[in-house]
Formats: sequence, C-alpha cells, structure tokens
Amino acid sequence: MFIIHVASLGPDGMALFPFILVRHRHPGPTLLNHECIHLRQQLELGILPFYLWYVIEYLIRRIQYRDHYTAYRHICFEREAFANDRDLNYLNTRRYWAFRRYLTQDTRP
Ligand SMILES: [Zn+2]
Repeated sequence: MFIIHVASLGPDGMALFPFILVRHRHPGPTLLNHECIHLRQQLELGILPFYLWYVIEYLIRRIQYRDHYTAYRHICFEREAFANDRDLNYLNTRRYWAFRRYLTQDTRP
C-alpha cells in the first residue's frame, strides 16, 4: 500500500486502490487497518465494481434510513471494516468476499 497525506481530505482516511489517502500525517493503526480492509475489498471485486456497488448501496441505505451517516455506516463494506478494524490480524484470517455477510446483518453503529 502507498500512504498519501492529503491535509484537505474530508474524512480521516480513504482507500483508492492502491493508495490510502489520510488527512493526518501520522494515522493510527486502526485507521490504516480499516482502509486496508477496503483495499482488499477493492482487489476482490475490482475497483470500478466496488465503487459502483458502494454508491448504489449507499443510495439504497439513504432511502432506507433517511440519514447520511446511518446510510454510510450500513454499507456492507463499511460494516465489515468498522467491525474488524481494531483486529490488526483480521486480514490474515479473513475469508474471500467476507463483506457479503454484512449485507444482511443489522450492525447499527
Ligand atoms: Zn470505511
């Protein structure tokens, strides 16, 4: 992975394969692990299908929850990343396409 510091970035981090963009110069391990989970998701799905799925699922969740933050936290890719980003060993044991099981689980933040 390549980490790029972008001071004007809105969120703390963003995965844009093969890069991780970070707002702060010294990102913590949880944030980097979160973004690495997204890089793995992007590798598995393909970059364009990942972003298409991400946007479409966001729009569906936005209609479902009528709130930006709740919709964002319910996207299956975010559910998987937030549920496992503190486990720094997660990517070593993660199953292929593991994000699929977060499509149906209700893991409200
Ligand atoms: Zn995320």
